[in-house]
Amino acid sequence: MAENCIFCKIIRGEIPSAKVYEDEYVLAFKDINPAAPVHVLVVPKQHIESLEALDEGNIQAVVPVHKAIQKVAELTGIKDKGYRVIVNCGSDAGQTVMHLHYHVLGGIKMGEKII
Ligand code: IMP
Repeated sequence: MAENCIFCKIIRGEIPSAKVYEDEYVLAFKDINPAAPVHVLVVPKQHIESLEALDEGNIQAVVPVHKAIQKVAELTGIKDKGYRVIVNCGSDAGQTVMHLHYHVLGGIKMGEKII
C-alpha cells in the first residue's frame, strides 16, 4: 500500500467508489469519468506503479486481475457482446494514476480507439 496513492486510498475505503467486484487480491470500481457505457477499473490491491514495474517478484498479482476482468464482464452484462481492456503505461500513454489498473470498456460497438 502506498500512503498517498488515490487507488490505495480507494482500496482502503478512505475514498468512496462504486464497487463492481472485490476479492482478496483485486478491487474493481466504476471509472469516475466513463469513456463508455460500461467503464470499470480493475486494480490489484498490491501497489504496483505500472505495467513496467511488473517483475518476477510481483507478476503473480496480475493473474487474479485477469480472472476479475472476466467476472466484471459477466456482472456488467458485457461478456457476450465483447469488451475492450486497456492499460495505459507511462506518460505518452496518458497514465495519470501510478497504480497499475486495467480499463474495462463495453456496452457500445467500438471503433478503432475509444480512449
Ligand atoms: P489512466 O489515465 O490510465 O491513469 O486512468 C486513470 C483513470 O482513473 C481515469 O480514467 C480517471 O477517470 C479514473 N479515476 C481517477 N480518480 C478516480 C476515482 O476517484 N474514482 C474512480 N475513477 C477515478
